[in-house]
This record gives sequence, C-alpha cells and structure tokens, in this order.
Amino acid sequence: MPTEVDRVRSTARATALSRRAVALTLAALALFTTGVWGRPDGEVWAVAYDLVLYNAVYVGAALVCALAALRAAGDRLAWWSMTVALLLGVAGNLVYSLVVARMAEEPFPSISDAFYLGFYLPLYVTLVGLIRARVPRFHASMWLDGVVGALGAGAVAVAVLLGPALEVTEGHLAAVLTSLAYPIADVVLLALLVGVGAILGVRRDRTLLLLGAGIVAQLVGDIVFLDLAIAGVYVEGGPLDLTWLITMALFALAGHTSDPDAVRASARAGAQAGTRVGWRVLALPLTCNLASLVILAAGYGDRFTAAAAWLAVGCVLAALARTAITFREVRAFNEVREQARTDELTGLPNRRALLDEAQRVLAAATARRPAALLLLDLDGFKEVNDSLGHHAGDSLLRQVGPRLRDALRATDTLARLGGDEFAVLLPNSALDEAQERAERIRELLLQPFTVEGIRLHVGVSIGVATAPVPAATVQELLRCADVAMYAAKSSREGVRAYVPDPRGGTGDRLHTMEELRTALEDGGQLAVHLQPQVALDDGRVVGAEALVRWHHPTRGLLSPAELLPAAEQAGLLRPLADAVLELSLTAAARWWWDRRVPVSVNLSAADVTDLDLPTKVAGALARHGLPAAALTLELVEDTLMADPDRGRVVLGELRRLGVRTSIDDYGTGYSSLAYLRHLPADELKLDRSLTRDVGHDPRAAAIVRHTVALVHDLGLALVAEGVEDDDTGAVLAALGCDTAQGYAIARPMPVEAFLEWLDASVPVQPL
Ligand code: C2E
Ligand code: MG
Ligand code: MG
Repeated sequence: MPTEVDRVRSTARATALSRRAVALTLAALALFTTGVWGRPDGEVWAVAYDLVLYNAVYVGAALVCALAALRAAGDRLAWWSMTVALLLGVAGNLVYSLVVARMAEEPFPSISDAFYLGFYLPLYVTLVGLIRARVPRFHASMWLDGVVGALGAGAVAVAVLLGPALEVTEGHLAAVLTSLAYPIADVVLLALLVGVGAILGVRRDRTLLLLGAGIVAQLVGDIVFLDLAIAGVYVEGGPLDLTWLITMALFALAGHTSDPDAVRASARAGAQAGTRVGWRVLALPLTCNLASLVILAAGYGDRFTAAAAWLAVGCVLAALARTAITFREVRAFNEVREQARTDELTGLPNRRALLDEAQRVLAAATARRPAALLLLDLDGFKEVNDSLGHHAGDSLLRQVGPRLRDALRATDTLARLGGDEFAVLLPNSALDEAQERAERIRELLLQPFTVEGIRLHVGVSIGVATAPVPAATVQELLRCADVAMYAAKSSREGVRAYVPDPRGGTGDRLHTMEELRTALEDGGQLAVHLQPQVALDDGRVVGAEALVRWHHPTRGLLSPAELLPAAEQAGLLRPLADAVLELSLTAAARWWWDRRVPVSVNLSAADVTDLDLPTKVAGALARHGLPAAALTLELVEDTLMADPDRGRVVLGELRRLGVRTSIDDYGTGYSSLAYLRHLPADELKLDRSLTRDVGHDPRAAAIVRHTVALVHDLGLALVAEGVEDDDTGAVLAALGCDTAQGYAIARPMPVEAFLEWLDASVPVQPL
C-alpha cells in the first residue's frame, strides 16, 4: 500500500513534469506563431511547422492532461478522456497533413474529419466528469437540464450565428453538414459547461474557465473555417490555425491547474449550500425551452436552417423528459419522507411526525381552544418482552394502534415515540375533555391482549398536558405530559394531568429542572450533609453517609426527595452523582488520614449501569489522594433489576478497585433473601421500616434476627438504618446488627459540623 508520503512525493513529481509539458506546449505555440506571418519556403519548413510544431502543441497538451489524470483522484476519467480527445486531434492532423493535403484534389469532408469530429465525444465525457466531480449530488434531472440547456443554446446559436453563413452557400450537402457539425458541437459543449455549471451552482473554477475559454477559441475558429472552407479559400498554416492551437494551449493550462483538493472543497461548498430548489434551478432550462419554441414557431417555413429546428425539437423533447423525471423524483421524495415519518414496527406516525403535527396544531391553539397531548407508557411491557421474547412484545405493540382506533377522532394523531411509549395529540381539546379521552384509552388498553395465543393484561400510565397553557411550545408540552405520566406511573393512578404549581411556577418541576441544570453547571448550591454510622458493640465511628442537599436560592434547603425526581426527569442523575462524589471525597479527605472513617455515597440506577463509573471513581479517588477503602457506594437493590448483568459488571469492577458496596434500604424492595447470594456487596442496610418496631414487635425482631444470621453467613456486614432512640439501638445490637445509623446517634449535618462532631466523638461511648 502506498503511504501518504509516497502519494505526496509522486504528486509532486507529476506536477513538476506537468510544468515542463506546459512549457513545451507554449513554446511550440510561440514558435508556430512566428511562422504564421512569414515562414521560410520549402518542404522542410512546411514539415517543421505544420507537422512538428503544430502537433507538438497537441502532444504537449495531451501530456499535461495525462499527468493531470495521474495526479487527480476524482477527476481521473475526465483527464484521461481529454488525453484521448487530444490524441484523436493529433491523429486527425497527421492524416490531414500526410494524406489529405497531398491529394491532387483535396476532398471535404475527408477522413481526417472523422478524427476531428471524434474528438468531441471524449471532450464531452471530460466536461461532464469535471462538472460532476464539483457537484455534491447528481440527479438524472440535472443531466437533462444540461442537455436542455445545450440543445436550446445550440438552436439559438445555429439559427442566429450560422444561419446567415449558410444562406450564402450552395455547397455540397456533406460539406455543409460537416462544417456545420463543428460549430454546433462547440456550441453544445459550451452550453453544457455554462448551462449545467450555472444550474448546479459550480463556483468560479479556474479549470472550467480555462476549458470554456478554449472551447470559445475553437468555436471562433470553426465559424471562420466554415466560411473559408465553403468558399474554398482555406489554407493550412494560416492565422486561423492559431485559434485551434490556442484552444489546445488553454486545455493544457486547464489540465495543469486542475487541483483535486480544490475540487473537493468546491463540492463541499456546494453541499453546504444545500439542495438548490426553486425558480433559479429552472430558469435556464425554461429559457432555453422557450427560445426553442420561438425558433420552431418563427422558423416555420424556411427562415432558419433545418439544424436549428432539429436542435430546438431536441430541446423540447429533453424538456419533456425532464418534466417526467422531476415528477418521478417528487414522488420518490414524498415516499421517502413518508417512510421517515412512520414507525416501522407499528406503521403509526413516529416521534418526528408527531412533533411536526404538534407544531402545526399548536400554532392554531389558543387558551380558549387548547390542544392536548396524552403520553402513554405501558406498564408491564418489559415483563412481556422478558418472559415471552421480543417477538411477543412487538406483536403487542402492533395491537395498540388498532385497539385505540375507536377512541380517536379523524383529527387526532396517535404516534409511537419509541419503546412502549405512545402519544396522542388532540387538537381542540380542553383539559377535562382530554382527561376523559385518556380514561377511555386506558379502559381500552386494560382489556386483555392476545399474543401468540396467550391472553395478556398490561396496564398503562397516561400523562395529560395542554397547550398553549401551561405549555407554550411543543417541547414544553412533551415535557409537561412526561412529568404527568411519570406522576401517574409512580402513584399508580393510571391517568394524571399536568398541573402547574400554584406557587407561581417556582415549585414547578419543569422550572426546578432548569434551575438544577444551572446549579450543577455553576456549583456552589449543592452540598452534602453527613450522617455518622457507629459500631453497635463499642460505639466506634465506622462510617459517614453523604446525603445530598440543595441550597436553593429562593426555596431554601431542599432534600433529596425534592431534588432527585427533578434530576431524573431532566436526565441529570449522572452529573449529580459526579457532583456528590466530588463533594463527598473533598469532605472525606479532611478526616480520612486522622480517623480512617470511610464516606458512603448513594448511587442511582443510572450510575449503577454506567460502565464508566469505575474509571470515574478511580480518577476521583486519585485526585483527592484517597485510597479505595475511604469510599463506600450505596445502591438500592431495585436499581440492579433494570439491567442486572451490567450492574454486576459495574459493581464487580468497583470492588476490584477496593471500593466497598452496600445494599441500601433493604426490606423495601421485592427481592428475596436468596437473591442476596448473587449480589456483589459488602454490606446490607436494613431499612427503617424493618428496624423501627423491633423493640415492641416480636415478629419484626424475628425477621431482623434471621436476616442478620443469613447476611453474616454470606460474609456481609449489617447496618441498621433509621435508629431514632437508644432502646431500639440496644435491641438491634442484641439481635446481632453490626452498625447503626439514625437520629439517635446524630442527624445528617453540614461538613464543618460533622468534623466537630467527629472530634468530639473521641473517646467513644458504647451505645
Ligand atoms: P438513604 O440512603 O436511606 O438515606 C437515609 C435517609 O434517612 C436520609 O434522608 C436521612 O436523613 C434519613 N434518616 C437518617 N436517620 C434517620 C432516622 O433516625 N429517622 C428517620 N426518619 N430518617 C432518618 P435523606 O437525606 O432525605 O435522603 C433520602 C434518600 O435520598 C436517601 O435514603 C437516599 O436514597 C437518597 N439520597 C440522598 N442523597 C443522595 C445522593 O447523593 N444521590 C442519590 N442518588 N441518592 C441520594
Ligand atoms: Mg443511603
Ligand atoms: Mg436507606
């Protein structure tokens, strides 16, 4: 494989060679020019000028183009075609000079014309290739636009420019046609360059400009030649020959200036400018078409030549084809658009379609005629998926649409937003009406579904919100409905409407979410309070739990109960965890080396499934110069349920680091004791609901005693949470709990207060 260095080196070599070939071309042109107005007589000089110098210009140009092909990546075919075109020109020249010019009676058209006309074919390929490389996307209609433009311009040019020339001739038909073919081919190429270039938005481009100039020179030469040849007064080696040589020199310069990087940049600029639609794109083909029609109408009879008429007919036909293709393109575009707005699984509109529709509906909604959005989330769908497989889940999701059809008006939009989330947009619907509809939808969905022959019951939680009040935008409407849905789910109420906070919005969760975002970005408002954990046998301080607090600028100190739901809704749990970890370790670094008391930090479900967590934790510990033993991470068992495999990986990784893990709030979740066996944990925290009554409820005491035994057998330590009085602490100690945490020991307190408390806690008093 050639390396980048090889590539650069060979490009540099090709450029140097190309420079020499350009010099050769220009030198040959200059020398030839000296002979135009006075060359020495004699066969040798004729050969030197007409054969050697004349063709040297062509060969030099061909060399430059071949080198351009070697250098360029995207334009390769174009420059090879150009090389072929120039070599065909050389062949034509040689045949003319060596054969045709030496005949007693010079025929016209001759065999050399076959080569000269053949020259246009690869030249066409070159132009198309160059234009194509400069245009980001190329459609069939663009080609046709070029053809329409070329034919139309050709028709006008032939009618106006060549018509008069032809009128004065009574030449032989073949001669007339051949000599006409050259300028027409030039005009077509030129029109292609200008027309297509303009339509496709090719920026001013040196290479194309030089090529265009070359074709203009050729057109001038061909028109003059047409005149001279028909009159029979053309002489080889005269000034006229210069026009063609200038063309070749300009082509050589074009090849030399071709720069693949510039081409790519031009294509990129075109792509950034976006697809060009509208009248500008159509202006040129339309004008050409109109001009063709004028030529056909005005030229009826014999005002214009037949060639002009045929070109005009071609132009009109191409325009017809173009219309047909445009029609097809528009249809295809609509189909693609439809696909992009449809949910593949259910065939319902997708999120994008819903957002568009909501945008439209919201524009027309007023406070008196509001629009409503119902956000539906199926309950128990995950279980269907997990126990019966995705196939069954998919089949269930597909049944939702048809099931709800009767509950929807023609103007309503039911969309699937993803997963088991659906939305119904109700234009012209007040809150109470929307709530009724939501109830009706819920009833329909509570009817059992039949999936693969099995009758299934799933529930649904529906959040209802309206716009323009309280939600002003589509995004807000979605968020309000989401908040309401979340509330419906956690309260198991089924349907919940979004109600803005009566305290003027400051207590509003939406608002809170935004404020929390700012608080996390700015820092300073968040703090941790620390609550000690002590050993029940000797009262040693064995830990401190960090509990997050938010010093809200207007609402005072907020507890996790107020802040965590907002963080979860706003997707801010991970940044919050980062902030808390940082605060906790900053605090722990102040006492660790004196007291060796680890700090416990609470994790949310989002953290437990975060595969980056171990790396983040290791980095944070290192930053604070703390060993892994200084940190314990607490998680609620339910958080592991969401993705047990991933959770286990994360916890395993953390424990490998040496960080302790603790199962929080044990006894509130659904898990069985047997499940504990599989948990990678060092400690279990018994929830207050289990520890609170041990003093007076023998059954509660029995549960704790057995849990302690099992937990110890599994090699875990046991922490009793929510110990509010010393008596309870004593009972828990007697039952075998290792550690206690609760108001009886100390309430959670700010860091400074905790440090003081810690100082005062020596020497320790057994509880
Ligand atoms: P938790 O981890 O079980 O924390 C113990 C909670 O019980 C704390 O409430 C604490 O103030 C309270 N508590 C402590 N001793 C007693 C007692 O003797 N009696 C009673 N009735 N309560 C007591 P807090 O600070 O409101 O935290 C509530 C929950 O919020 C925590 O429960 C924890 O699950 C969560 N949490 C706190 N901080 C964070 C955090 O930084 N990140 C995450 N993800 N969750 C946190
Ligand atoms: Mg905790
Ligand atoms: Mg707890």
